[in-house]
Amino acid sequence: MATLRSRLVPSSSCSFARRTGEAVSVRSPQGVKFQSLSSFGSWKVVAGETRLALREAGGGVMVAHAGSGENATSSGSLAAEVVATWQNAQAVCFDVDSTVCEDEGIDELAAFCGAGDAVAAWTARAMGGSVPFEDALAARLALFRPSVKTLAKFLDTRPPRFSKGIRELVSKLQSRGTDVYLVSGGFRQMIAPVAAQLHIPSDNVFANTLLFGDDGEFTGFDATEPTSRSGGKAQAIEQIKKEHGYQTLVMIGDGATDLEARRPGGADLFICYGGVVARPSVVAGADWFVTSFKDLIESLD
Ligand SMILES: [Mg+2]
Repeated sequence: MATLRSRLVPSSSCSFARRTGEAVSVRSPQGVKFQSLSSFGSWKVVAGETRLALREAGGGVMVAHAGSGENATSSGSLAAEVVATWQNAQAVCFDVDSTVCEDEGIDELAAFCGAGDAVAAWTARAMGGSVPFEDALAARLALFRPSVKTLAKFLDTRPPRFSKGIRELVSKLQSRGTDVYLVSGGFRQMIAPVAAQLHIPSDNVFANTLLFGDDGEFTGFDATEPTSRSGGKAQAIEQIKKEHGYQTLVMIGDGATDLEARRPGGADLFICYGGVVARPSVVAGADWFVTSFKDLIESLD
């Protein structure tokens, strides 16, 4: 298995290439350049390098990386068992926001409704695992209360923004007979077009449901969906595995709730996708960290 480590590097040993508002470019001691996406601890890898993630932490920059020194950082250092589990997976479950799609659906909908900044702050906190998921969901929705009409308008004007390579990866898995699922803390109404374009049946979609009153006004979300709660994704994964009797199931995502699914009875392998956002705590807990789906596509050959 790849060695994944985190360590605190003093800010003084990193050169901050520029700081403009919340965007900060950093050159780490290893000479790799990063750029922050927000001030909430999520950082995006800017160019080339695929195996490092960092964020500001008390007095320094937290760097999480796969291997160092004699533990090579190339995918060649992955344990054969990780690759074998991936190749032999009977089911692969994908997170949607910042994994299958390049954005966070609720943030996009909130921005459409004029509450983008406030809601993005909530999303970042929830994804870092510091706020119970259900609290963050309720709080964020309360900030903009989307109606049926607004949602329809949003879906009409804004097609899904798929991450590069995801269509090819899903199609390749399906052609090998691997069952593909979408397991998301987002909303079914917004994920349906994503699933349709990826030829994923609606039965294979586990997500939340927005609720509306008779005249189409927002009334809340279905709190009985397991994905509406902290730990809910892990529960959904266990349910999928049990119901279908899968021996090997792989979870791919970018968030703390995706990583939680990797446990006995749940996902047998967790692949952290950092192509949109790489969160150090999630990277550090992953069996495999990739920033491009190309790595996963090629390893199926
Ligand atoms: Mg996500």
